Amino acid sequence: MQTAVALKKLGRVHALRAGVWKPRTRPSAFEGIGSAALAWIRSAGKATGLPTAVEVANSRHVEDALKAGIDILWVGARSSANPFAVQEIADTLRGTDTPVLVKNPINPDIELWIGALERINKAGITKLGAIHRGFSTFERSHYRNKPNWEIPIELKRRVPGLPIICDPSHICGRRDTLQAVSQTAMDLNFDGLMIEAHIRPDEALSDAQQQLTPEETGALLNHLVFRKEVITDVLTRTKLEELRERIDKIDHEVLDIMAERMSVAEQIGVYKKQNNITILQSQRWDEIVRTRLQEGQMKNLTEEFVTKLFEIIHQESIAHQSHVMNDPGQ
Ligand code: PEP
Ligand code: MN
Repeated sequence: MQTAVALKKLGRVHALRAGVWKPRTRPSAFEGIGSAALAWIRSAGKATGLPTAVEVANSRHVEDALKAGIDILWVGARSSANPFAVQEIADTLRGTDTPVLVKNPINPDIELWIGALERINKAGITKLGAIHRGFSTFERSHYRNKPNWEIPIELKRRVPGLPIICDPSHICGRRDTLQAVSQTAMDLNFDGLMIEAHIRPDEALSDAQQQLTPEETGALLNHLVFRKEVITDVLTRTKLEELRERIDKIDHEVLDIMAERMSVAEQIGVYKKQNNITILQSQRWDEIVRTRLQEGQMKNLTEEFVTKLFEIIHQESIAHQSHVMNDPGQ
């Protein structure tokens, strides 16, 4: 209640979220109070005049939450990855007009995310939104869940008009990077943020490391820079247009060069076929990766970029080669 009231005082918070049923990775973690806590959230909602939101993962959750007068429901990352769970939630929601937010599934699969939104939409729910909370990976990284921004950007493109908010708390898993991730979300035109806050963050029963005090939450919001998407100033526009024209031209050249590279790869394919050589020579590939990385480094390109770039170029080359090698006319 104290956290809720302090958040309301910031004047920048539009809804209160709280987990009543908390899906935790390990059973020893705090898994929420359950239905009994719905009344607590409702009273926090009444005291602040803010709408309330909880996570639901099955039909009982939906029924209990709606009965308790919760305003918004969200589907958590572990549930969106499970079509059975999403369908059960959707079926229970049928006939209501509850606003529903769908978190991305834990694995970076945009189809699964869209599928979850579709299931709920097909049940007649139209007040839909998405929450980007990052994706789980095996690699160690300073993110708790890697943002893979290209996925929510692609979701925006595939489902125009769908509001998408960002959950920097679950992306970062720690306090010190929340500001930067929240700013990136704003720069990418996300429609809002879902941030975990607690009056005594270290004592929070779940995800303590990523909680901010209400005051820190206020400071984070105050430090955000809101840039405009539409450029109104004529001068900036012409300068920008000029730079964009240069980019268009460069991209055109990149595609020409790629087409040329593939045609050379095909000629190599014909040669390999005539001399009965396999498509892949591992040694040659190792050499390509090594030399390109060296050169890329000198040109200020990151190792990750150069590696990915050549992996994808290599894939395309192999596709072109195997096409000519399996073409009986060659
Ligand atoms: C949460 O929002 O507290 C939560 C459990 O998040 P996620 O479903 O993104 O892991
Ligand atoms: Mn959490």
